[in-house]
Amino acid sequence: MTYDVIIIGGGIGGLTTAIYTARAGLKTLVIESKLTGGQMLSTYEIENYPGYKTISGQELALTITEQAESSGAVISYDGIKSLDLVDDIKRVVTDYDRELEARCVVLALGAEPRRLGVNGEEEYTGRGVSYCATCDGSFFKGKEVAVVGGGNTALEDALYLMRFAKRVRIIHRRDEFRSIGVLAERVKESNIEIMYDAEVTGIYGDKKVGEIAVLDKKSATEARISIDGVFVAIGQTPSTEILKGSAIEMNNGYIVVNKRMETNIEGVYAVGDATDKEVRQLVTAAADGAVAGYHISEYLMRKN
Ligand code: NAP
Repeated sequence: MTYDVIIIGGGIGGLTTAIYTARAGLKTLVIESKLTGGQMLSTYEIENYPGYKTISGQELALTITEQAESSGAVISYDGIKSLDLVDDIKRVVTDYDRELEARCVVLALGAEPRRLGVNGEEEYTGRGVSYCATCDGSFFKGKEVAVVGGGNTALEDALYLMRFAKRVRIIHRRDEFRSIGVLAERVKESNIEIMYDAEVTGIYGDKKVGEIAVLDKKSATEARISIDGVFVAIGQTPSTEILKGSAIEMNNGYIVVNKRMETNIEGVYAVGDATDKEVRQLVTAAADGAVAGYHISEYLMRKN
């Protein structure tokens, strides 16, 4: 069987594409290697998705997944082993060795947390170092934690961690936050301690995290701080490893698309955080999906 559309990635961009293509009567398969919802799943509360004043990431993920399925899309939980995208019929081989074919492929690959790249980070990941406050925050009841970063994610994580931890510090490399003002205000009004102009240079411990080394950039002095958990929230990198060496045009690891969400290869589209764009939000990923879905329907109608 040849699918009309195979969508690789079940975050909001991929699922929205699926809603559009399935509703257009196109045979649509979404392949997701983990759980559908992508980065939504690691967001405790979403306050900027239109239609909901506030909704949990998990609830929104579930709702959109159900919507894609009830529109007629099939979701398959599998990884991608290889992609052959150049010919008219695209070929996808999955980790379970399924060989699939489609007339169009949508790359909805998303992004993953950027690593700090300091000593101890890898060693203590899962043993005090975390990239997901919503997933791991409750393990730190009554403990002391540090959040590294100064963007929206870091500040949201710090505010969330205040529910559990007895002491939360934000460690940010500059003297002002990158986040939106409302979050910065909430943080400043809270009991969160802020260490500006500071960099974590190492993570230490025994079986789990016990200490971090923090460089005060102004005084050029380094100090050890005892800590139970380190939440790294320093942005993302696109999950486009699978495209390395492929003919897909990329910019700094991000997939280059035009305003129809087409890549440089006919029949291959890309949406969401892995694309080369300025604003990476749930709403913009959903919008990418709508645009891609619309143009895929037109493209396949023209080809029939
Ligand atoms: P981000 O906006 O890229 O911020 C990353 C933060 O980490 C910045 O403060 C940056 O410092 C710092 N940083 C980067 N590399 C570092 C390193 N090697 N060492 C130490 N610090 C480092 O990332 P994000 O907060 O994850 O957000 C990603 C995207 O999702 C953004 O577009 C954001 O708006 C969006 N988002 C939106 C919401 C929301 O709307 N509520 C929530 C979460 C995320 P500098 O400031 O010095 O560059």
